[in-house]
Amino acid sequence: MKFNTKMKDIKNYEAGKPIELVVREFGIEPKDIVKLASNENPYGCSSKVKDAVSNILTKMSLYPDDSMMDLKAALAKRFDLKDENIIIGSGSDQVIEFLIHAKAQEGTKILMNSITFAMYEIYAKHVGAEILRTVSQEHDLDEFYEIYKKEKPSIIFICTPNNPTGDAIDAQKLFDFLMKIDSDTLVVIDGAYMEYAISKDSKKEVKPKELIEEFENVIYLGTFSKAYGLGGMRIGYGLACSNIIKELYKLRPPFNVTTLSLEAAKVALGDEEFVKNSVVANFSEMKRYEEFVNEKKIDIIESYTNFVTLCLNPSQNSSQIANLLLKKGMIVRDLSSYNMNAIRVTIGTKEQNSRFFELIQEIL
Ligand SMILES: *Cc1c(COP(=O)(O)O)cnc(C)c1O
Repeated sequence: MKFNTKMKDIKNYEAGKPIELVVREFGIEPKDIVKLASNENPYGCSSKVKDAVSNILTKMSLYPDDSMMDLKAALAKRFDLKDENIIIGSGSDQVIEFLIHAKAQEGTKILMNSITFAMYEIYAKHVGAEILRTVSQEHDLDEFYEIYKKEKPSIIFICTPNNPTGDAIDAQKLFDFLMKIDSDTLVVIDGAYMEYAISKDSKKEVKPKELIEEFENVIYLGTFSKAYGLGGMRIGYGLACSNIIKELYKLRPPFNVTTLSLEAAKVALGDEEFVKNSVVANFSEMKRYEEFVNEKKIDIIESYTNFVTLCLNPSQNSSQIANLLLKKGMIVRDLSSYNMNAIRVTIGTKEQNSRFFELIQEIL
């Protein structure tokens, strides 16, 4: 059978291996498996969310409220925006899909960092867009601007903090950069880890309201999958001026977010204490990673997120190391598909991290 010729070029997204798969493949007991591969919140989610979701299980037979009124109101309040500035997706992933499909077509140029979130490229390939990348490993806005001037891309992706490297851009520098970009170029600011970055360094805080008030060509993406601990609920959002949101809405399938997810996200937004505690614990555990790599002479990239990227020596092969860890029940992310000899490790609970130190020490 022949398929859309664009399909040939598309690689599957390589998700962190689920615990169930490691149980089956290696016969390891679930209790002996630690997953530090998908940047999930190791402390789960707010207990208020669990209560709220269990209280609405009877609503499962009904379609969700497709206006998403309650969650939109909560997001509007949080960011001091209006409903018309918000679109909610099945993960912010889905919003990325909408915006690429809305703006790009065959041959459209899309600029992104040399190493960044893989879904930008996958959706870009759906429409046959041309992908341009910087050379520098961390976001260098000067380099972005040089390429922009020469190539005039239609979309620019800025992931801050960046996945999978963990570096973040100063908000002021980003603002200055945006001032120089033509209003027909859509700039996507992916803030999937912003809750972490803000707590480490307030200079990294990108404020969606300021962006949207100033720029009609910018969309900010957020997710409930990381700091809010709701990866399994598949819910995220895009914030932009109403003109952009209106276009994206044309691509939104009806009922794209479940009733349970909408409720979970709304209640999660209301429990700031939970997020704060998770973030504080995250950075306190990150210190242990920093000490560990210092001692072992491994390089890490300074991280503003809930993961660290360990750059290995040439004598250590990241795929091999990730595999050896896997056989011992420790799931991490090998970054060789990003052309990096590195592994990305989500910062887990104290016990999970200790286990990681133990196992990696055995292997190295
Ligand atoms: C996790 C992540 C997302 C989106 O996650 P969803 O679960 O689809 O909301 C988006 N961007 C980056 C950089 C991420 O790491």
